[in-house]
Amino acid sequence: MTTTVKLLNGMYMPILGLGTWKSPTGKVREAVKAAITAGYRHIDGAFIYQNEVEVGEGVNAMINDGVVKREDLFIVSKLWCTSHAKSMVRQACEKTLSDLKLDYLDLYLVHWPMGLKAGEEHLPLDAAGEAISDGTHILETWEGMEELVDTGLVKSIGISNFNKSQIESILNKPGLKHKPVNNQVECHPYNTQDKLIDFCHSKGITVTAYSPLGSPDRPWASSDDPSLLEEPQIKSIAEKYKKSSAQVLIRFQIQRNIITIPKSITPQRIQENFQVFDFELTDEEMKSLKQFNRSYRFCPFQWAKNHKDYPFNDEY
Ligand code: NDP
Repeated sequence: MTTTVKLLNGMYMPILGLGTWKSPTGKVREAVKAAITAGYRHIDGAFIYQNEVEVGEGVNAMINDGVVKREDLFIVSKLWCTSHAKSMVRQACEKTLSDLKLDYLDLYLVHWPMGLKAGEEHLPLDAAGEAISDGTHILETWEGMEELVDTGLVKSIGISNFNKSQIESILNKPGLKHKPVNNQVECHPYNTQDKLIDFCHSKGITVTAYSPLGSPDRPWASSDDPSLLEEPQIKSIAEKYKKSSAQVLIRFQIQRNIITIPKSITPQRIQENFQVFDFELTDEEMKSLKQFNRSYRFCPFQWAKNHKDYPFNDEY
């Protein structure tokens, strides 16, 4: 049984989950099965990852084989930016559920605080290469999300990539029915997110760290970019515990009570990433990992830098 984090609505979310962005079809079904076999009970997905059919096949195979029950699992998905109009939210969630072949999600997140022009294109760009807004406001999208809880399609709702003022705008919404229970943001030693985490926790909102290993397989990676897994100091902490750098980076989050979702399609790494509950970093080591902070983003969503709701222009 994994450690869990309690959500505002009383549900428990496993602190460690499997990420599935970039996990290709042909691989992700087995990755999900390997994860559940290794003890994972939390799977992080999204419509935009274009692999939810196979993620669902992996999940359902393990349920049908009697390895787990649906209620033992915590399944997360995310509303993509081109479905932010209130009238589109339910349809988008139903598409995810039908792809996954599940009756409900444990958590559904607004993937980004920015609505993009609805249509076939997942990333609609103008002639200058800039993402095209749909003009929606996040509070309208949030009302659509609240309806999903009321109709039972999802157990809880949350947000992703939201900054402090965007979170405040939801919390201060007149007639708010359901608060966001979780904010999923990029977080690792190069971007420790201390201020945003403190703010979220002060409001009872849990935080999930995405790209905890520095997302080495992100499509726009360049050889000049820094690499967390190659940091000598992180490697030497790992050696001390006979662990890998990946395990230290995962443990770093868990020890701060931050949920995290390392992605892998490699069965041996999937198992390795779960072996993080049998060692403890010292306060000194936690401090030294935090000293890598430089507010660096591996996932800046650069096409939307001029979007009215781009979240990363504020300090946090
Ligand atoms: P991660 O930081 O999880 O890194 C994934 C990469 O690390 C893959 O190349 C994987 O390789 C490799 N890897 C995994 N385990 C190990 C290991 N033990 N040793 C060495 N290398 C390892 O990157 P992601 O960006 O994928 O982030 C994790 C998840 O967070 C995503 O998959 C997604 O679910 C979520 N996410 C959410 C975002 C959002 O906007 N809300 C944005 C970005 C991510 P391999 O698979 O080949 O084993």
